[in-house]
This record gives sequence, structure tokens and C-alpha cells, in this order.
Amino acid sequence: MSFTLHGLGVSGGIAIGHAHLVSAASLEVDHYQIPEEFADREVQRFDKAVAQVRAELDRLESEIHETHRGDATADMAAFVTVHRMILEDPGFTETPREIIRRDQCNAEWALKLQLDEILTHFGEISDEYLRERKTDVRQVAERVVAALSGEGGQGSALPEKLRERAADTILVAHDLSPADVIQFKAHKVAAFITDLGGTTSHTAILARSLAIPAIVALHAARELLHEDEVIIIDGTQGVVIVDPDETILTEYRIRQNQWLLERQKLTRIKSAVAETLDGTRIELLANIELPDDLDAVRASGADGIGLFRSEFLFLNRRDTPGEDEQFEAYRRVAEGMKGKPVVIRTLDIGADKTLAGPDQLSASSALGLRAIRYCLAEPAVFNVQLRAILRASCHGNVRILIPMLASYTELRQALAAVQRAKEQLKEEGRKFNDRTLIGGMIEVPAAAIALPIFLKQLDFLSIGTNDLIQYTLAIDRTDDAVAHLYDPLHPAVLHLVSSIIRQANSAGVPVAVCGEMAGDLMFTRLLLGLGLRDFSMHPANLLAVKQRVLVSDLASLEPVIARILKAEDPEKLRALLEKLNA
Ligand code: PEP
Ligand code: MG
Repeated sequence: MSFTLHGLGVSGGIAIGHAHLVSAASLEVDHYQIPEEFADREVQRFDKAVAQVRAELDRLESEIHETHRGDATADMAAFVTVHRMILEDPGFTETPREIIRRDQCNAEWALKLQLDEILTHFGEISDEYLRERKTDVRQVAERVVAALSGEGGQGSALPEKLRERAADTILVAHDLSPADVIQFKAHKVAAFITDLGGTTSHTAILARSLAIPAIVALHAARELLHEDEVIIIDGTQGVVIVDPDETILTEYRIRQNQWLLERQKLTRIKSAVAETLDGTRIELLANIELPDDLDAVRASGADGIGLFRSEFLFLNRRDTPGEDEQFEAYRRVAEGMKGKPVVIRTLDIGADKTLAGPDQLSASSALGLRAIRYCLAEPAVFNVQLRAILRASCHGNVRILIPMLASYTELRQALAAVQRAKEQLKEEGRKFNDRTLIGGMIEVPAAAIALPIFLKQLDFLSIGTNDLIQYTLAIDRTDDAVAHLYDPLHPAVLHLVSSIIRQANSAGVPVAVCGEMAGDLMFTRLLLGLGLRDFSMHPANLLAVKQRVLVSDLASLEPVIARILKAEDPEKLRALLEKLNA
């Protein structure tokens, strides 16, 4: 029976293919030994994950009652009840705690050991109903492992099977971490959909970087869909059509071709200079995650790389990449860009991007030991990266970008760390560009408000609107429950963005936007009107933004921008934005 599901379309386009049900917790978990003194901490991590799953089940239950009627409600409520019973069963949760303490296994491994034990016993049960509960037990375990992956665990390797699947595979998951999705660069899938997630989570950002359709916040897709079912994903509208009939399939095949044609047409302006109608030159730069993204950057005709999210070199591995390995990655990008700017952001780990490894047991939250805070707390890790970037600086036009700066002290410490790395390299007689530019991300409201501190000491700024919005509005960018409140047009956000650009321009300090706003056509003219001249975005969005730049006249934007900045009523503001974009 055909039905549709609605979620947040986070990456446009249409995919038609076969569902492959996975979980971020594929249950092919990593195994590692916990030092005895960390066993308690590991048990706490496990308990926290169990509590998170309990909360998820509670939420699911209330959503079922709100959105379903009749038999469907009863069936789905029964399934939640069974899952809750499993979760509360001491055999399910108590034994893994004992295993962690006794055998010093990491939490995922302990849970997997216990699961194997339980599943073996299920095979011996003669009652068919009870035997069928095996799937439920697995699903609950998957939920806990998924929760653990957000709690400082290893993340999870997606099933090896993915490599062998057809190109029309559409992944259906409860949740996917950025560490999962980055693997799709090597093993392409046609699209993915998840129950959880927000529009500017790194998972969503990666979907746009991969240029594959994606929908998040579907709430129960993982439960409602079946393996190998034919589904259509409309990533622009946020619609999933399950088991479509021939007429619908034909309609969507036509739409899919149209979408591809539109994108192909854009390649005609690849070598055109990005200039507004009144002749103002706009820099369009690319955001990348890995050196392999260079092909896409070149295909987009970008003016350089405005954001290399270097932390993706650190994901899905137990160790951290050493200086030579990092140097090679940075050098490859620097040389590949042939003198065009390459802005390498130092490690922005934490929140939804967690490092693996037994010594990384506690994940930091978005407000925790993230990005520069982590690097200043782990000077050895920071030093290795700074040395590697500096060494790469004589192979191209490399610049260093420090994420999440909030205070004078952090800025001074970060600059001192760069200086230290330079002195070490000098002593060792290694080559580097002593004049490497150093910039800072303005993505914490404190930095935006106290901007002069940063303007005085940095060579350039890059506005991280994704985090600036998250921190200004107190909206977790990964949480679908508050995704509707995540608003780039909130007057507080507009005020901050406008003020950063204005102050930087009058101080003569180059300023870019590298958050998702820069690649969103809805905001191109708004940002131009606020005085922005450097935009950094995923290569897949770049030509569409260029096309918008080519047909924009700066002088005619000004009066509308002035009204937008004064508007208080969100509807009026949106109407003004439409006028701007008309
Ligand atoms: C941002 O916060 O806008 C940004 C570009 O960095 P990230 O999305 O990686 O946090
Ligand atoms: Mg950020």
C-alpha cells in the first residue's frame, strides 16, 4: 500500500530506489578495552544512552497518539511498550554494566555480548510470538548503540554490505552521524532519510556536500519502511513516497530529469566571473571535508576553498592522524588549488563530530569542550595540526582558520600556539610561510558582540552562521524537535550578521560567510545587501549562487535591506525577503 511521509528536506533533488534499513548502530560495533579506572565512567556513558533511548520511546509514544488513529495507534503503541519493557529488563541493561566492570569492555561491546547471549536463547524458544520478539530486542540494542555513538563512542562503521549494494540504494536510518555519512563519499548511495536530525546538523551539511537528496526528522520512517521497498525521495519538498504506483513513478522520473537538466545548464556559467550587474566582484569559495573533494571544487569553478573542515580527517579511526599524514592532506589541497586561497580550519571536534579512541570516552556537547576549546585543552594534538598546516603553507596559498573563538584569552592562546609551532619549525630548519594569514570564525555570539577584539588581531574573519544561529537562539542544530525554531531570519541573527559585516568592512578586514546561509539562494541577495563580498559554500551550490549574483543589482537591494533590518513581524520580514528575491 502506498503512503507518504513528511520530514525536513535538507538536500534537494529526487531519488528513486530501494530502501535499505540501517541504523547508525549497525551493531557491528568497535571493540576496545577500557582502562580499569575508566570503568565507572563507561558505565555512566552506557546509563546515559539507556536514559536517552527511554526518552526517545516516551516521545515516540506521545507522537503516535497525536498523529495516528484507531488500529494503527494500538499497534504502534504496543510496539513502543514492548521496546520499553525490553529496555527496562535487567538482563538487557544490568548485565552489560557487569561486563564493562568485569571484562573492561567498552559499552557497545558489552551490550553486543549480552545481545548475542539473549538472541541465542531466543532461538530455543518454541512460542512463535516470543521468538518474533527477537527483532524488537535487536532494535532496542541498535537504539542504545546509536545513542552511545553520540556519547563519546566510536561511532559506527556502516555495514560492509553497503559496498556491494546497487547504486539506487536509499538508506533509511533512525539517525546517522557525520562519521557515518562521510563514508558515502567512498560508497555512494542515492539518498538517505533519517528519523532524527536538523537542517544544519553536519549530517545534513554532508548530504548537500554529496549532492544527494536527503530528508531528516521523519520520526518513524525506520519503523514504517521495509527492506527493499521501492521509495521516492523528494529532498526539496521533504516528501517520501513509499511503494508508489506506475503513474507516480513516471511523474517523478520526469521531475528527476528536469532537476538534473537544470543543474547541467548551470555549468555554462562555470568560468564566468561572479559579478553583480553593477560590476562588483564577488568571491565564491568552496567548503570541503576531504582532499578528494577537490574534483567537485574544480568542477564548480570556485575562487578557492573558504572552509576545509579538517576534522573529517580525524573521524572513523581509532588514532589521530600524525603530522606527516595531515601535511600530505593539506599539501594536496594547497597544490591542487594552484595558488587560489585555501582556508584550513583547525580541528572543530565535539558536538555531533566525535573523535574515536579509548581515551576519548566523553563526547563534548555543543556547549562543551568543542573546537578551539578542545585544541587548547589538548595542546599536543593542536601542535601537530598547526605544524602540518604551516608546513603545507609553502605549497600554496594556505590560511589558518580558528573555530569557535569566544574570548580574548582563547584568541591569545591560539595565536601563541601558532607562534610556538612556527618557532619549532624554524629551529628544525623546516620551510613554511611565515606570513600565513590567520583568521577566526565568528560563530559564538560573544565574539560577534565583542568583535573589535578579534578584528584587531586577526587577518580575516569567517562567519559560521550555522553555529551563530544555534548559539544565539539556543536551538540545538541537530535536534529535530526544535528544528522549526532554527531561524536565520530572526532579528537577533540578522542584527549580528549585519553588524559583523559592517564592522569588518569598515576596519578593512576581509570577512566571509561559510555557514549554510552562504549557499542558500534564499539569502544570497540579503547577504549581498548587508555588504558581504565573500561567500563559501558546498561546490554543489556554487553555480546556482553565482547565477543569482549575476542578476543582482546592489543599489536596488539597499532600500529593502534597510526595511528588513527594521522589521519585527516575521511575516512581514519574509514578504520583504520575497520582494528582494523576486
Ligand atoms: C558554521 O558553524 O556555520 C560553520 C561553518 O561551521 P560548522 O558547520 O562546521 O560548525
Ligand atoms: Mg561552526
